[in-house]
Amino acid sequence: MKVLVADAINEKGIENLKNVAEVVVDTSITPEELLNTINEYHGIVVRSRTKITKEIIDKADNLKIIARAGVGVDNIDLDAATEKGIMVVNSPESTSITVAEHTMGLLLNMARKLSIADKSVKDGKWEKKKFMGVELRNKTLGVIGMGRIGSQVVNRCKAFEMDAIAYDPYLPEEVANQMGVELTDLETVLKNADFITIHVPLTPETKHLISDDEFEIMKDTAFITNCARGGIIDEEALYNALANNKIGGAALDVYENEPPAKDSKLFELDNIVLTPHIAASTKEAQRDAAIIVADEIIELFQGGTPANVLNMPRIDNNTYQELTPYFELCEKLGSFISQAVNGKIIDLEIVYSGELAKIDNLELLTRTVIQGAVNPFLSSPVNAVNASLVAKNRGINITEGKKTNAKGYESLIKVIAKSEKDTFSAEGTTLHEARILKVNDYWVDVIPKGHMFIAKYEDVPGSIGAIGTKLGEYNVNIGIMQVGRDKKGGRAIMVLTLDKEIPTEVIKEIQNLDNVYEAIGLEL
Ligand code: NAD
Repeated sequence: MKVLVADAINEKGIENLKNVAEVVVDTSITPEELLNTINEYHGIVVRSRTKITKEIIDKADNLKIIARAGVGVDNIDLDAATEKGIMVVNSPESTSITVAEHTMGLLLNMARKLSIADKSVKDGKWEKKKFMGVELRNKTLGVIGMGRIGSQVVNRCKAFEMDAIAYDPYLPEEVANQMGVELTDLETVLKNADFITIHVPLTPETKHLISDDEFEIMKDTAFITNCARGGIIDEEALYNALANNKIGGAALDVYENEPPAKDSKLFELDNIVLTPHIAASTKEAQRDAAIIVADEIIELFQGGTPANVLNMPRIDNNTYQELTPYFELCEKLGSFISQAVNGKIIDLEIVYSGELAKIDNLELLTRTVIQGAVNPFLSSPVNAVNASLVAKNRGINITEGKKTNAKGYESLIKVIAKSEKDTFSAEGTTLHEARILKVNDYWVDVIPKGHMFIAKYEDVPGSIGAIGTKLGEYNVNIGIMQVGRDKKGGRAIMVLTLDKEIPTEVIKEIQNLDNVYEAIGLEL
């Protein structure tokens, strides 16, 4: 086996690789040189410099694995690699401890005003009174997002004798309990936490998760850090909260624009600590990334399955052709259902009927449904390879069923999601493109794409009009409207496609209308 290390990685990873393969290290290789030589290699290791384009993949006839030492895979054409049966792996856990430690640094910095005290001493001053701090001990840590990094921050804060509460609507209670954290709603976290730390991915749901209303709820002494992604905190609202001493202080590693504008108003404040997106930058994280990806390549070459595979394994061509028309539908059904169900999913049932039910192994479609269901809430991509494991780790029970009757369609796929407080189902088929034909017990016909909206309401005159008027007031144009009801004057459901994203305040206002039981915005 022959492996090319095309970007600089820690020596330990290269050493390990040499035990199983001939290793060529060429960290200045140009795209043209790579194109001409890629055919010689069975594995390639990159960081972010080397771009693995479709053109390169097309020529990579012997390549079995592309390993990204780090997390983001924007520089790799995942679809082209999957199509060619090349595995793509990364090392998402390599930075978790490093980012958690940076978060601790920022928490301590805010509590003890270290950055401004440092500047004051270097300016020749000795302002002991000005820098009165607070202890972390006995304070409440409020974690938003209890994934890999959030949980490591909790572990470290326990050593500082802090209490931890967390908001993570997608984490099962038992898993949170094992992590030693009490799960609660966002408002309770904001109201009670002395230190708030953000560790969620940036999604339509988390964009400006922390804005004016949220700062209003916080204690006047609260400190907040964001080492996740810029845009989760609304920087304008943050500036106002800090300038008016509505909160005690803030620390950011990530920004809405990176680097922030040279005249950013945040720079005027002395109750904020800023670092230049370096939370993941340590020698250890780089070493671990190299060791992890080397281990993954070794695992594959020795006949095993690497842990962090980001794309699908190669499957037999005939089955793949039969399943291909349904991948998009499965992904959309999963995403639709997980955004529509109220509460975190504990059971996900997928029922195939008609022609599809005749295929022996539908595991790949089931995994694609899971992928659609969990991807909106996780920072690193879940795919058909790792989907089942992710579902298991998040306490989601998966069942698969088959029925012969497809109600006149060639094939139907129904996904039923159950949470502690709700059951929601969607059923669809592929007619040139993915279509949802039934939502709960109501027949509809919608293309699950783009900005969508669902309302459950009482079937009385004026309900539909009131919702339409509200959308109109906010200039949200309806593309397609489908309504269904159980009986005249009973419960009804409306599924809309919209020309633009529906703002959260409009959803709240519709939710408050008479006769509306529930209003949900979705992004597909
Ligand atoms: P993860 O996927 O392991 O965890 C994310 C957690 O957020 C999950 O438990 C998920 O259930 C939860 N979540 C999703 N949507 C939520 C919502 N609306 N409200 C509350 N919780 C929600 O991710 P991770 O590896 O812990 O990374 C966390 C963040 O840190 C990501 O944004 C990642 O991009 C970022 N990150 C930043 C750096 C850096 O250099 N600053 C480095 C690595 C990771």
